[in-house]
Amino acid sequence: MAHRDGYTAFVSSGVGKKVATTLGLPQPVPLRRHVPGRPLVDGPVLVGGHGATPALAALRDGLTSAGATLVDELPEQGRLGGVVVDLSAAATPADLEALRATLSPALRRLGRCARVVVVGREPARASTPAQRATQRALEGATRSVAKELRSGATANLVLLAPGSEVAALGTVEFLLSARSAYVDAQVLHVGEGEAGTPADPDEPLAGKVAVVTGAARGIGAEIARALGRDGATVVCVDVPPAGAALAVVANEIGGTALQADVTRPEAGARVLEHARTRHGGLDVVVHNAGITRDKLLVNTDADRWRSVLDVNLGSILRMNEAFLGKDGLRDGGHVVLVSSIAGIAGNRGQTNYAASKAGVIGLVDAYAADRGLRRRGITVNAVAPGFIETEMTARVPFATRELGRRLNSLAQGGLPVDVAETIAYFASDAQATVTGNVVRVCGQSVLGA
Ligand code: NAD
Repeated sequence: MAHRDGYTAFVSSGVGKKVATTLGLPQPVPLRRHVPGRPLVDGPVLVGGHGATPALAALRDGLTSAGATLVDELPEQGRLGGVVVDLSAAATPADLEALRATLSPALRRLGRCARVVVVGREPARASTPAQRATQRALEGATRSVAKELRSGATANLVLLAPGSEVAALGTVEFLLSARSAYVDAQVLHVGEGEAGTPADPDEPLAGKVAVVTGAARGIGAEIARALGRDGATVVCVDVPPAGAALAVVANEIGGTALQADVTRPEAGARVLEHARTRHGGLDVVVHNAGITRDKLLVNTDADRWRSVLDVNLGSILRMNEAFLGKDGLRDGGHVVLVSSIAGIAGNRGQTNYAASKAGVIGLVDAYAADRGLRRRGITVNAVAPGFIETEMTARVPFATRELGRRLNSLAQGGLPVDVAETIAYFASDAQATVTGNVVRVCGQSVLGA
C-alpha cells in the first residue's frame, strides 16, 4: 500500500526539500518496503568488527547466499546498502573501537534507507564485568547511531546466545531487508539452538496454518495478507459486524473467515476447531484484535476499564488455554502478540489501554519462560507498534496526530504492513530460536524509547 502523509510528500518535492532544509524541518523520506523479487539490500554491505568470529563467518556465508554483496573495505565511491558490525568477541571497553572504526567513515556513505546491524552477545551471559559492560555498551551505541542516521536509514542490535551464530542469520537478514522499514533502534535476542530452514525462502510459511484475530481491517488485515503472501493458509477472525470486510480479506488471500468475538469464553476452542477441521491443524497464532476507550483516568468508568482489559488482555489468556494446551498448536508453532509503545511508556488518557498492553508484555515473559512450551519448540514474541497510519490513528485529533507522526527518528508514521512484516518474521521457522522478544515497530519513537 503506497501511503504518504501530506508533509512527507511536500518535503520530497523539489521546493519542499529546499524549504525544509532552510528551516531545519524534519525531512522524512519514503521508506523502502518489501517488493518480492527485489534484492535484499540496495547496494553493497560493509562487514567489519572485532576479530574473526564464528558469528561473522556464519553471517558471511548466509548473507552471500541470500544475494548480498559483502565488502570488507569502504569502496572508493558509491553508496552502501548496509553495514554489519560484529562485536560478539568484544570483551573490554577498548574493543569497542572496532565499532567506531567501522561505522564512523561508513555513515557518510550510507544510501537511502540503508541499514546498520550491530551484532553482540547477551550481556547477562558474559563471564567478566568488563565483558558484560562492553556488551551492554552496544545498546547505547546502537540507539545513538539510529538517532544520528538520516534518509530512512535504521540501526538495530542483534544479541546472540552461545551457539546461536547460525540461527542469527534470519534476524540479521530481516534487519537488513526492506521488511524492517519502521523497526529502528531495537534489540533482538536470538536464543541458542538450531533454526529451521524453510524450503522456499519466498514462501517461508508454506504448508502452515495461521490465525489472525481482528483481521477485518487495519493492522490485522495487513498481517493476514503478509502471512498469506508468505505461503500460510490464514484463518481470519473478527466480530460479526465486521463480517463483510472480513470475508473480503479472507477471499483475497485464499484463507477462511471466522466470525467470532475473542472475548467469548468459547472463542479459543471455536477457532482451534475451525483450523483443525478446515485446514488440518494450527501453527501460528497472532493475537491482534484490540480496542481503545480513551479517557483520563479521572473520567474512566468501570465499563471502559473492563472492556479494554478484556479484549486486549483477558481474551488472549483465555484463548491461549486452548491454543497452548495439549491438542492446540502443533509443535514448533509460533504465537505473536500485539502490544503498543503506550504499554511501555504509558500514555495520558490511555491508562486502561496501557495497562492491557503492558500486560501483554508480561504474558510474553511468562510464556517464553515456560519449560513445557520451550520443549515443544513453541515461540512467543510481541510487536509494540508506535504511530501507525490506520483508522484508529486517523481519529486522533490533528495536533496530537502530527506529534505522534513526527516524534521519531524517521519523522513519519509507520504503515500497517510494517507491523505485519515483523510479525511474519516471528512466524517463520527460521526464527525457531527467537522467543521472548518485544520489538517496537515505531521508527525509534521518542515515546518509550
Ligand atoms: P482497528 O481498530 O483498525 O482494528 C482492530 C480490529 O479488531 C477491528 O477489525 C475490530 O473489529 C477487531 N476487534 C475488536 N474487538 C474484537 C473482538 N472482541 N473480537 C474480535 N475482533 C475484534 O485497530 P488497528 O489500528 O488495526 O490495531 C490493531 C492492533 O494494533 C490493536 O491491538 C491495537 O491496540 C494495536 N496497536 C495499534 C497502533 C496504531 O497506531 N494503530 C499502535 C499500537 C498498537
